[in-house]
Amino acid sequence: MFKINENYLKLPGSYLFSRIAGKVNAFQKENPEKSIIRLGIGDVTQPLAPAIISSLHAAVDEMADAKTFRGYAPDLGYEFLRNAIAKNDYAGRGCEIAADEIFVSDGAKCDSGNIQEIFSTDNKIAVCDPVYPVYVDTNVMAGRTGTYDPSAETWSDVIYMPCTDANDFAPELPGETPDIIYLCFPNNPTGSAITKAQLQEWVDYANKVGAVIIYDAAYEAYISEADVPHSIYECAGARTCAIELRSFSKNAGFTGVRLGFTVVPKDLKCGDISLHALWARRHGTKYNGAPYMIQRAGEAVYSPEGKEQLKKQVAYYMNNANVIYEGLKSAGYSVSGGVNAPYIWLKTPGSMTSWEFFDFLLERAGVVGTPGSGFGPSGEGYFRLTAFGSYENTVAAIKRIKTL
Ligand SMILES: *Cc1c(COP(=O)(O)O)cnc(C)c1O
Repeated sequence: MFKINENYLKLPGSYLFSRIAGKVNAFQKENPEKSIIRLGIGDVTQPLAPAIISSLHAAVDEMADAKTFRGYAPDLGYEFLRNAIAKNDYAGRGCEIAADEIFVSDGAKCDSGNIQEIFSTDNKIAVCDPVYPVYVDTNVMAGRTGTYDPSAETWSDVIYMPCTDANDFAPELPGETPDIIYLCFPNNPTGSAITKAQLQEWVDYANKVGAVIIYDAAYEAYISEADVPHSIYECAGARTCAIELRSFSKNAGFTGVRLGFTVVPKDLKCGDISLHALWARRHGTKYNGAPYMIQRAGEAVYSPEGKEQLKKQVAYYMNNANVIYEGLKSAGYSVSGGVNAPYIWLKTPGSMTSWEFFDFLLERAGVVGTPGSGFGPSGEGYFRLTAFGSYENTVAAIKRIKTL
């Protein structure tokens, strides 16, 4: 009789967003006349920019012609895209990253889950709390997290780094030494950012203790403040301790198109073993490359027209963020985020728990957000709203919340 991976049985309850969807569907069924505005899930709503659409069309037509048809893409990505990334995202920001250190993929969620495979299950992970749930759950699947405490909603072998208003939502260096440190800035869910000087402290720490930082920069396009780094490689020494995850989902609306990349510098080593070689091996063995058409669409993100159009798209969402931030603030809420990220993080009013406020907001205002406690114990008493809705819905939602 076959046996299953027992680590999968350790995963607690239902996935956060399934639980939210269940509650919203039940409410809508009981109240079919009520209009519901969804500012919960971190998914974009604006259509793809024209530069991307025309690039997609052209690439599809190439596939119809025997002379320009393409089969399997190179495992690690087409040169044209890797060069565009190296030039724009790295050289353009003063970072020393070569095109062959960039591994193109179908998105940062997969990469953030898969990258842990190249590390021993004995490694200890440190995560921010609250956290993007994928980091922890994929380590649970790998058997790296110990036992689950359902009352505290924590894992025995995970180092949690609380991010609350007490530390301005920036983690402090952990007391216990981790092997793998997950950092995501600008942050999902809190919307917070850290300065280059703050990130430099993490890089110096990781190099000192021999840890690796997995840096998720999925929201770098939303950065508006000058001292906030767009890449961890802006920090000196990051080439020997950091892996960076990037995505086209939030900067270019590719959530349904699927494209991302991971940077593993050749200087990142464990003894004399290159992590770059291990990840190349893993990628080549388990992945057959992002589609040609999609990589061409990704290339268009870096064209002059693409850049211009996407700047407007990001500005559209950040205007929503401002509407939410200012609206809630004037209604007396304690709010943060929304400046370098499309997420607003608010304190639940009174002594309401995150889920109590979720129900309150859904039932009284027909607005769906995400309970902070779903992202980790330090998220309790907080709530996330996203700026990814339409402007009209965002304005309407805030108007409803203000009348509560
Ligand atoms: C949205 C998001 C991503 C992007 O994931 P994709 O798989 O590329 O769509 C990565 N990290 C975080 C923290 C995110 O919120």
